[in-house]
Amino acid sequence: MNSSSKKLLRSPGAAAGRTRSSAPLFFSAGAARILDALAPPLCPMTGEPVSEPGILSASGWSRLQFIDDPVCARCGAPFSHEIGDGAECAKCVADPPDFDSARAAVVYDDASHGLIVSFKHADRTDLAPLFATWLVRAGRPFWNSDAVLTPAPLHRGRLFARRYNQAALLAAAVARATGLGFDPLALERTRATPPQKNLSAEARRRNVAGAIDVRKSHHDAVCGRRFVIVDDVLTTGATLSACARALKRRGAARVDALALARVVKGGATLS
Ligand SMILES: [Zn+2]
Repeated sequence: MNSSSKKLLRSPGAAAGRTRSSAPLFFSAGAARILDALAPPLCPMTGEPVSEPGILSASGWSRLQFIDDPVCARCGAPFSHEIGDGAECAKCVADPPDFDSARAAVVYDDASHGLIVSFKHADRTDLAPLFATWLVRAGRPFWNSDAVLTPAPLHRGRLFARRYNQAALLAAAVARATGLGFDPLALERTRATPPQKNLSAEARRRNVAGAIDVRKSHHDAVCGRRFVIVDDVLTTGATLSACARALKRRGAARVDALALARVVKGGATLS
């Protein structure tokens, strides 16, 4: 398929999951817009018709588990009952992460996994504004006027293959919604790392050790600043910890982490 054909397949209507995704490729942009207007947008989770692109149906909403207080003050893991302000989970007490605190919007389970995979690997970038509303809510403790949003970086090889960094799209959408600073290039992957899926916490830590650093051109800009690193999924926190370590090594004053979804012990049933 040539690049112009790909462009047509990824038109806003196709990205919004409309029923005309099998439309012939020779339609003009005007005709595509007319079809967009005629074909109803669909819920990205359930496939039910919805009133506008990039929103969920009521049954889609009901499948998601949003994370609310009480949570670990450090890593944001949900507690089953109120423990007290500032309480940290056993894992954070035993082995504190390098970020000052982390929060996530939803539990990473079958429902959120499907949405995130669409966003990450199937060009559903139209979901970024929806996800941003969840992230703005989850990141309430971080919205200090000095905070700068920056994405967890992708190695350039993976960025080339995927064509976009999903974390950067999320960070940009949150920056637009909050009016806070956005620095998409503060961090870089200095070497490619194997995918982390199926790795233990210790293996993940080793996998990213020394693989993330502050971009040389940003050394001065990082010093004394307050950052919120944005990523799609917090699994063990190894990647976000490596990002925070790199920023703090260059003098960042505070580093918090914000993820769209997080793995919750006993709460994820991934297929
Ligand atoms: Zn914790």
